[in-house]
Amino acid sequence: MTTIAIDMARIDGGLMTLTSEQVKELRSRLEGALLRPGDEGWDDAVLIWNGMVAKTPALVVQPVSARDVAATVKLARQCGVLLGIKGGGHNIAGTAIAEGGLTLDMSRMCDVIVDTEAKLARVGAGCRLQDVDRATQEQGLATVLGFISEVGIAGLTLGGGLGYLTRRFGWSVDNLQEVEIVTADGEVRTASRDENADLFWALRGGGGNFGVVTRFTFRLHEVGPTVFGGLIAWPFARADEVLAAYRTLTTEAPRELSAWLVLMRAPAEPFVPPEYHGERCCVMVVCYSGDPAGKDAAIAPIRELGDPAVDLLQEWPYTMQQSFLDESEPKGIHAYWKTEYLADLSEDLLPLLRDLAADCPIPEAQIGLLHVGGALNEHDWDDGAVGNRDARFAVGVNGLWESGEPDAEAFRHWIRAGWKRVRPFATGGNYINFQTADDDQVPADAYGKNYERLQRVKAAYDPDNVFRVNRNIPPAS
Ligand SMILES: Cc1cc2nc3c(=O)[nH]c(=O)nc-3n(C[C@H](O)[C@H](O)[C@H](O)COP(=O)(O)OP(=O)(O)OC[C@H]3O[C@@H](n4cnc5c(N)ncnc54)[C@H](O)[C@@H]3O)c2cc1C
Repeated sequence: MTTIAIDMARIDGGLMTLTSEQVKELRSRLEGALLRPGDEGWDDAVLIWNGMVAKTPALVVQPVSARDVAATVKLARQCGVLLGIKGGGHNIAGTAIAEGGLTLDMSRMCDVIVDTEAKLARVGAGCRLQDVDRATQEQGLATVLGFISEVGIAGLTLGGGLGYLTRRFGWSVDNLQEVEIVTADGEVRTASRDENADLFWALRGGGGNFGVVTRFTFRLHEVGPTVFGGLIAWPFARADEVLAAYRTLTTEAPRELSAWLVLMRAPAEPFVPPEYHGERCCVMVVCYSGDPAGKDAAIAPIRELGDPAVDLLQEWPYTMQQSFLDESEPKGIHAYWKTEYLADLSEDLLPLLRDLAADCPIPEAQIGLLHVGGALNEHDWDDGAVGNRDARFAVGVNGLWESGEPDAEAFRHWIRAGWKRVRPFATGGNYINFQTADDDQVPADAYGKNYERLQRVKAAYDPDNVFRVNRNIPPAS
């Protein structure tokens, strides 16, 4: 890269020029790479999952160490450059990219060290979920991570994190032991329950607001190497029966069983009988991760429904379970969704979800319920910023479509209208990691009673709001 001056977005919304000397100076401090548009690797570095978000930085740093990150943060701060941090790039609001500014693409920091004796994994902040699952599963261990393996460990964890193991072991951040982080002053710090405890509290769910995390340490549990899971589906004509059975199942199921319900149209895939292609159906995504001796009893209520249209339930590697839905959520798709937490499945909600699915005009829509109740409900409300300790389900009204879809605006409108009908059943909290860029779901809703404390921690560690390219928590004044 030739060293030339670069026009960049400033943190206050204006423009500034990073002089060629400043660019040269930054490059000389980096072990990792500095990329400009057109450089090899640029397209991947700035690619994010939601194709609907069109944002591009002017400069990308790909650090390989906490020192690289510290040098970048110091420069951004000194010059007032707008700074973004990209983990896996999956945030639906596109918060990884600083439009016109500088983005730290963490993808080169992806080492995973598993300590089998201590049952801990030390994980580079650029890892995707698959990197961590693969490494921990080699030892028959796992931590709580989500169900699409390309998602970034950093964004998922910093927002709280949920997955098939949540019912057993809580939010991902309930399993977080320690982080290494570069704060706004450019210092590399450790945060844990014993060190910088207020910062650690905020990092357990408070998003990317407090600095650039360079390493996470997770507690691991014995899981796998095989689990019983996959998906099973019934025709939509049986929606009432399936929804009622789901309600009973989720009241009684052992924590080793996670069952998620999705009302959607069946894809034209080889594993779906042709007569169901494009037809509405009720899909249950299942993961039983407990003692095999308890499996049949745990899934009996699912089997008792009988006559599925599709039955892909099987014993298979946990890593398969964690990635088998990857292709259903391809990078670059246009995505819009609205989600809420529920404390229970009220009787009036179920027919509403059925009606929403029946009337939905979006070909690739999902009206979904994720069962998360269990371990997370046993913590105090203020055990970590993540809060939402009353959540037992997440409910989502989700739509996906291709670029250029002529009805995109109508689809968005329909999702919003559906969400407004679901909202009265919700706890009032929601998941920061599922918030779109709209201003009708904001961090204050997601964190509830923990929000003010987050603002105080923000004031202590990032008083100038250097880390603002995120679902932002402004510092307390
Ligand atoms: C298809 C799909 C499936 C999903 N499934 C799940 C699921 O099963 N469970 C679940 O809990 N969530 C799930 N999510 C939500 C997911 O957790 C969020 O989208 C999350 O923000 C993604 O993290 P990321 O690192 O990929 O995203 P990015 O877009 O890269 O980052 C998200 C945010 O985190 C910040 N950030 C990234 N890296 C760092 C860092 N090192 N230090 C500080 N801040 C950082 C960014 O600045 C940004 O604000 C899913 C999302 C998608 C799109």
